[in-house]
Amino acid sequence: MSIKIGLAGNPNCGKTTMFNELTGSTQYVGNWPGVTVEKKGGKLKGHKDVEIIDLPGIYSLSPYTLEEVVSRDFMINDKPDAIINIVDASNIERNLYLTTQILELGIPTVVVLNMMDIVRKNGDKIDVNKLSKLLGCPVVEASAVKGQGVKEAAEKAIQIVNQKNEFTLPLTDEVKQSIEAIRRIVDDNISYEGMKNSWITIKLFERDKNVLEKLKISSVVLDEIESVIKKCESKLDDDSESIITEERYSFIGENISKVIKKNHKRSETTSDKIDKIVTNRFLALPIFAFIMWGVYYIAISTVGTAMTDWVNDTLFAEIIQGNVSDWLVSANVADWLQGLIIDGLIGGVGAVLGFVPQIMVLFLLLSLLEDCGYMARVAFIMDRVFRKFGLSGKSFIPMLISSGCGVPGIMATRTMENDRDRKMTIMLTTFIPCSAKLPIIALIGGAIFGGASWVAPSVYFLGIIMIIICGIILKKTKLFAGDPAPFVMELPQYHLPSLKGVLMHMWERGKAFIIKAGTIIFVACGVIWFLKSFNWSLEMVDAGESILADIGNIIAPIFAPLGFGDWQSAVATVTGLVAKENVVGTFGVLYGIADATEEDPALLGNIAGMFTMASAFAFVAFNMLCAPCFAAIGAIKREMGSWKWTWITLGFQTGTAYMVALLINQVGNAILFGGSIVGAIISILIVIGIVSFVIIVSKNSIKTQTTPKLSYTK
Ligand code: GDP
Ligand code: MG
Repeated sequence: MSIKIGLAGNPNCGKTTMFNELTGSTQYVGNWPGVTVEKKGGKLKGHKDVEIIDLPGIYSLSPYTLEEVVSRDFMINDKPDAIINIVDASNIERNLYLTTQILELGIPTVVVLNMMDIVRKNGDKIDVNKLSKLLGCPVVEASAVKGQGVKEAAEKAIQIVNQKNEFTLPLTDEVKQSIEAIRRIVDDNISYEGMKNSWITIKLFERDKNVLEKLKISSVVLDEIESVIKKCESKLDDDSESIITEERYSFIGENISKVIKKNHKRSETTSDKIDKIVTNRFLALPIFAFIMWGVYYIAISTVGTAMTDWVNDTLFAEIIQGNVSDWLVSANVADWLQGLIIDGLIGGVGAVLGFVPQIMVLFLLLSLLEDCGYMARVAFIMDRVFRKFGLSGKSFIPMLISSGCGVPGIMATRTMENDRDRKMTIMLTTFIPCSAKLPIIALIGGAIFGGASWVAPSVYFLGIIMIIICGIILKKTKLFAGDPAPFVMELPQYHLPSLKGVLMHMWERGKAFIIKAGTIIFVACGVIWFLKSFNWSLEMVDAGESILADIGNIIAPIFAPLGFGDWQSAVATVTGLVAKENVVGTFGVLYGIADATEEDPALLGNIAGMFTMASAFAFVAFNMLCAPCFAAIGAIKREMGSWKWTWITLGFQTGTAYMVALLINQVGNAILFGGSIVGAIISILIVIGIVSFVIIVSKNSIKTQTTPKLSYTK
C-alpha cells in the first residue's frame, strides 16, 4: 500500500529544501514566497511506496490566493496519509498559527521545527517535549539545508500514518459555547463527508465558503447556525473569523513562553548590521544599482565575454565549422546541404550557443545574490519604491524570477490576492530581460557599443523603470485602480551560499538554454536559412532576393521610425516571438560566421554597419519590451484565463515597446547625431497623445471582469 505525505507550512520555511533532501530531486529553492506555486510530487529516497508532495506555502487554511487553494484542496480533498508541517523555528509564533489549523484536520501530523541552526545561533532554546505535548503530535528538530533531521521527520511521519491525531484548540467560554451549539446542530443534521467535526464546526463558525458549499446545508439549518454566530459576534463585538484568529493567537501566546526560552541578551546580529546599510532609505537603491551593474559587468563585459569570444571564434568558427566544412567537401555533399549545415545550423545555433558562457556567469552571480539573501532585500526595497507609486512590492517577486525566465515569473503572480494587481503584474513582468534576451543585449552591445559595460545594466534598469512608469499609468485607468495589497515577507538571515545549491541553479537554468538552442532554435535556424536561400520559385538566390527578404520588406517599414527599417532586423524581431534567442540566431544565419576571418568576426562586423547607437539601443529596447516569446504568451493566456486579456497584454506590451523605441531612436538621433529635432518633438507628442488617449478611453468604456477560475495541471 502506498503512502502519501504532504509537506505543508508557511512560505519560505524550507519545504522545498526538505522535499529535495527527501526525494533527491532538484526543485527550485528560492528565499522568497511564490517559488512553489503548484504542488510537486516525488518518491521518498529508498521507499518506492512513499510519495512526498511539496505544497505551496500558506499562512492559513482560509485561502485567499490561488496557490493557497492548491494546498488547502490537497489537504482536505486528497486525504494524505500524513502531513509534515514544517515550521520556521526562528519565527515560531507566526508559523504555529497555521499549525493549529492543520492539526484540526485530524490527519496524522508531524511538526518539524526547521531552521534550528538559526535558533541555536541566536542562543534560543525550544523545549521539544513540551511543545509535542501541547500540540498532541510528534515534534522533530531539523535543519533542512544541512540535511539534519530530515530523514527522522519522514520516518516519524510513516510511523504515525495509522494513528489518530487529537488536537482541539482550547477556546474561551463564550466561543466554546457557540462552537458546541453549532456542533449539536451539525450532529443532528449533516453528514461530515469524512471530515473531522472539530474542524468543520470551527469552519462553519467562520462562515467558510468552501465548507458551506461542500456540505450542502439546508437553509433552515444555515439560519440556525447563523443565529448562533451572530449572537457570539455581537457579544464579543467582532466578526467570527477574527474571533477565531484571536483564539488561535492567544493559545499560542499563552503557551509559547513555556516552550521557548529566548536569549534576551542577544546582540545585534550580523544580518541586522548588514541590513542597516543595505536597506537604508538613501543607500538602498544606489547599492542595488551598483550590484546589478557589477553583475552584468562581470557576466557580459569581462569573464563572460572572454569565454564567449573563445566559443564563437575558436570553437565554432575554427574547430567545428572548419572541420565540418572540410568533411562536407570531401564527402561531396550537395552545395545546398553544405549551406544549410554551415550557414544555417552552425551559424545560427552557434551564434546563440556562443552566449552560453555569459549566461552561465550571469546565473551564477544571480544565484549567489539570491541564495545569500540579498535578493529578498531587493524585493523589500522595491516595495518601498513601488508603494510610493501605488504599486505593490509583491509584484516585484515575479519580476525577480523573470530575470531567469518569464514563464515561472508569470506563474509566480499566483501569490497575489488582488486580481487587478495580478493582471497588471502579468502584463509588466516580462519587461525584465530574461536569459534568452541576454544574447541580444550582448550581441548589440558588442557590435555597436564596443562592449561598453553600461549597456546591459541600463537595459535591466530600463525594464524596471518601464514597469514603474507603466504601473503608474495603468493604475490611472479604471481597470487597475485601487490600493495595493499589503506585502508581508520575512527577510531570511544572510548566509554563505551553498556551493552545491548555486551551481545547481546555474546548471538548471543554463541547461534549459542549451536544450532550447538544440531544439526550437535549431529548427528555426533551418527554416530561416531555407527562406533566405530560396526565392518563391525555389531557386537558390542571394539573400536580398529571397523569400525572407520579401517578407521582411513588407514588415520593415513599420520599424523604420525606430531606426531599424531594414528587412534583416525586421525578420530578426519577428522570429524573436518564437523564442528570443532567435533574434541572434537569425543574425547568425544571415551574417553567419561563414566568411569570418581572424581579424573580422563577420557577425559583429556586419551588424555594426546596420545601426547607429540610437537605433541600436532602440532595437534592443523594442525586443526587450515587446510581446514575449510563445512560451511566455502561453503562460499569459493560462494565467489570465482569457484570450481577450491575452491580446490586451500583447498589444499593451508591443505598443509600449514601440513608443519607447521610437523615443530612444528619434531623441537619441537628435541629440547624438544632430538628427531632426522636429522628428524628436513629433515623437514625444505622439507618445503623450497615445498615452492620454488610452487612459481616457479605458476610464470610460472598458468594463472590469474577474478572471475565471484557473485549472491546475497535476
Ligand atoms: P519553501 O518556500 O518553504 O519551499 O522554502 P525553501 O525550501 O524554498 O527555502 C527558503 C529559504 O530558506 C532558502 O534560502 C533555503 O536555503 C533556506 N533554508 C531552508 N531550510 C533552512 C534551514 O534549516 N536553515 C537555514 N538557515 N536556512 C534554511
Ligand atoms: Mg517551495
